[in-house]
Amino acid sequence: MSTIQVKTASAEYSVIIQPRLLDKLAAHIASACGRQPSIFVVTSPEIWALWNKRFLASFSTIGTCIHVLFVPAGERYKRLQTIERLAEEMCRAGAKRDALLVAFGGGVIGDTTGFLAAVYMRGIRYVQVPTTYLSQIDSSVGGKTGVNLRVGKNLLGSFHHPAAVFCDPAILSTLPSTELRAGLVESVKAAVLGDARFFSWLERNLNKLLDGDEKALTQAIQTSVRIKARIVSADERETGQRMLLNLGHTVGHAIEAVTRYRGLLHGEAVAWGMVAALRLSVARTKLLPAQATRIENLLFRLGPYRQFRATAKALLERTSSDKKHLQSAHRFVLPVAVGNAIVVEDVSQQELLSAIESMLRTVKERSA
Ligand code: NAD
Ligand code: MG
Repeated sequence: MSTIQVKTASAEYSVIIQPRLLDKLAAHIASACGRQPSIFVVTSPEIWALWNKRFLASFSTIGTCIHVLFVPAGERYKRLQTIERLAEEMCRAGAKRDALLVAFGGGVIGDTTGFLAAVYMRGIRYVQVPTTYLSQIDSSVGGKTGVNLRVGKNLLGSFHHPAAVFCDPAILSTLPSTELRAGLVESVKAAVLGDARFFSWLERNLNKLLDGDEKALTQAIQTSVRIKARIVSADERETGQRMLLNLGHTVGHAIEAVTRYRGLLHGEAVAWGMVAALRLSVARTKLLPAQATRIENLLFRLGPYRQFRATAKALLERTSSDKKHLQSAHRFVLPVAVGNAIVVEDVSQQELLSAIESMLRTVKERSA
């Protein structure tokens, strides 16, 4: 069992990673939060159908009352109206301020449940039991919670950390392979921005990961979580180091927005965003073309990503309206070596346009 501590100015909690942890979930929750007379599980019907027996098994002997609240699968349910409906259901079931929420699903369920916990009766506790690779290594850690508005993603939200995160890599056995591949892009991102040894490890072990090798997955999750935990522990509110986690996300978000979140999975868009960042970085930092190619080659082993249509101009415009941007110049995370990235504040429109155009040429050549 591996335990990674997250320690921020406002919270301290453990991320526990262990295959088949789900079989002992009741005991893990009790040790992190005390014995609970009742808990409220937020999940989707699909995930519950696959995993409810294993989820419930450890609670059968201790008499905890489990209320299950359902959210249909899909980003479009990450909305304020879902929060309101779930809160009504909790109220009707008698949930008070001491209620414990459990997010049992991917990042959509995690972000929604976290925000529900942040606002229900002005804030209650919750734990994360993430079921996608992306949510195990990324969204469950760091305390960002929220929902989407029609005009943009994650525009309503709150920093509200879980009381604990329980990752069971065995749950990934039912995850579609496209979701696994897209999630692994975020591990490549974590390696590129902060851990050269992990990058080499990923190069050697990628095929095992793609085959669902549990030991390799466990190790990749541990290392990725350690990198994220280190960064959010140093900078909870994204005023400095945490910005590094946006590597690939500036252009990635623009691709998602221009394709209306329908064309590509988030991780796929981030992979292309990283390609754009690499092209930009070769043009203006000391990143060597050979290092950029090495990173791109690993990203392409996670593809082929789906083809998408977008003009460089549309992507540039969308990048300028990204909420994480300064007004005049573009703030950008640029890899400067394998395992090291920096934040620059002065990327010009022209530099960015050239990088996007270069990326789009590769999209044409290498997409499925
Ligand atoms: P997701 O939650 O939409 O899950 C992807 C799909 O996999 C869904 O259809 C889901 O039902 C299915 N699924 C989940 N677990 C499964 C399992 N074990 N077996 C079979 N199917 C399973 O997608 P995601 O990639 O996990 O999360 C994306 C969300 O996370 C986005 O909304 C994004 O904004 C958010 N996010 C948040 C943070 C943060 O810091 N809070 C960070 C990154 C991403
Ligand atoms: Mg991301």
